Amino acid sequence: MSDLNLIDPAAFAAEKQSLQGRFLLSQLDERVWSHEYFADKQAEVLFTLQGGQDRLGRLFLDLGVTGSVPLVCQRCMQPMPFDFNETGRIVLFGDEAGLDEAMLSDDDLEGMVAEETLDVRTLVEDQILMALPFSPRHENCGNAAVGEVNRDKPNPFAVLAGLKSSR
Ligand SMILES: [Zn+2]
Repeated sequence: MSDLNLIDPAAFAAEKQSLQGRFLLSQLDERVWSHEYFADKQAEVLFTLQGGQDRLGRLFLDLGVTGSVPLVCQRCMQPMPFDFNETGRIVLFGDEAGLDEAMLSDDDLEGMVAEETLDVRTLVEDQILMALPFSPRHENCGNAAVGEVNRDKPNPFAVLAGLKSSR
């Protein structure tokens, strides 16, 4: 395979291979770069992928994606910095039935059916989209240079506070 980002996931995991690389948002799928939250489509994300086998003998891919990607604040529409560092384990299954059965007994499981060829870009894209805050906002619009930026997904208390102040 000439494209390094195309892997045979089962072989990759069984041989405990590893891969790392970087993408600009603009090199990823349209569903990423066209996302309204991104302020800079040339922002770069880094990824690492490590294959292995867990205690149950299941093959897995450990994915890490990090980046510093400006988002558009959904209150003042100005850019705001957003750093993320997401890791996740994707367990590989031979067929849908095996995957479904494992998902039923483990709520936290992230799994996929191992196809012959997997484009690592797709994994990275999914991870980025999952890392995005529900609604990115400065904690203090107009004073963003000195204020702390809310980088986390909104917690219930923050939402409550927002409701109170808008009355
Ligand atoms: Zn703002």
